[in-house]
Amino acid sequence: MSDDIFSERPQEFFQASFLTNGYCDAQTILPVDGHYACHCTCGRWDVVADDEPAGLALAREHTRDLTQRLLAQRSAS
Ligand SMILES: [Zn+2]
Repeated sequence: MSDDIFSERPQEFFQASFLTNGYCDAQTILPVDGHYACHCTCGRWDVVADDEPAGLALAREHTRDLTQRLLAQRSAS
């Protein structure tokens, strides 16, 4: 029975907790094999950029996207 609690947990609940827990606290951009591996503390953002400025731009895009989704969710509820 306890397994059903997790398997039937609605996707909406998961997304809501993800957005309100502030998981996007920090993004890291590390040089790896001539590229830059970009990672976010939320664990849902892992990309490879050609250089550091590109990685920073992608990081800003990632956090801005999440902020807009959070605001949209707040105004919808
Ligand atoms: Zn993130």
